Amino acid sequence: MERHSLTKGKDEADSGGMGKKYYIAGNWKMHKTRAEAAALAKELVQALKDGKHKYLIAPSFTLLETAAPLVKGTNIRLGAQNCAPEEQGAHTGEVSVLQLKELGVQTIILGHSERRHNYKEDDALINKKVHLALKHGFEVILCVGELLEEREAGKAEAVCERQTTEGLKGVAATELDRIVIAYEPVWAIGTGKTATPEDADSIHACIRKVFGKLYGAAAAEKLIIQYGGSVKADNVVALMAKENIDGALVGGAALKAETFVPIAKF
Ligand code: PEP
Repeated sequence: MERHSLTKGKDEADSGGMGKKYYIAGNWKMHKTRAEAAALAKELVQALKDGKHKYLIAPSFTLLETAAPLVKGTNIRLGAQNCAPEEQGAHTGEVSVLQLKELGVQTIILGHSERRHNYKEDDALINKKVHLALKHGFEVILCVGELLEEREAGKAEAVCERQTTEGLKGVAATELDRIVIAYEPVWAIGTGKTATPEDADSIHACIRKVFGKLYGAAAAEKLIIQYGGSVKADNVVALMAKENIDGALVGGAALKAETFVPIAKF
């Protein structure tokens, strides 16, 4: 996926003047039964079938088999929220990329702040998962973002630079079309506090610069950077209007069609 190809040509003509195609993803976290997941997936397929953007839902592992046939062949991608750092073996409680592949998963979210901070995943572990996911053909959404105390200490850019650089260590230029970065300031996740569009854009610009140092200006220009952190229908327009914001990773508001669809179709 190329940022340019999402922003030019037919998409531009079709997008009602917004001139840009965005990547809007819903992270369902550890919510929903299979019946609830099926109902939401069906509602989204119907509501977003004429949507102009790129879409993804990431249900829990146990819901993937339910959601897969419902989104297959639609404009909604199927994502997983994590994967094991190994292909298979004695790893009780883990889920392998091979198992995700078999279920039709196309994208894996890695390095989410809840994985980093609640489950102590470090950059090295996340990098190992990134490589494994890429090796098996998945698109990766690599999440980065600072804690409140890191922001208050003026370290937001440094944290995002480190998480981006370490998370992508060893990733080849040929794999970059399957890399998406999600900037999710930890203090804005599930709190109702959103980064101002200006603050978010400035960190996105910093991430793009870091990416440019690693892979060159052309690759940086194509990179899709989503913003995540209490995205809602009433703030999505202002956030997406910013030059360096190319989509959204949505948590709480992704759990109901009535809150996700207005974001997805902004
Ligand atoms: C998330 O968990 O990725 C997220 C952004 O959550 P919320 O939208 O609820 O802040």
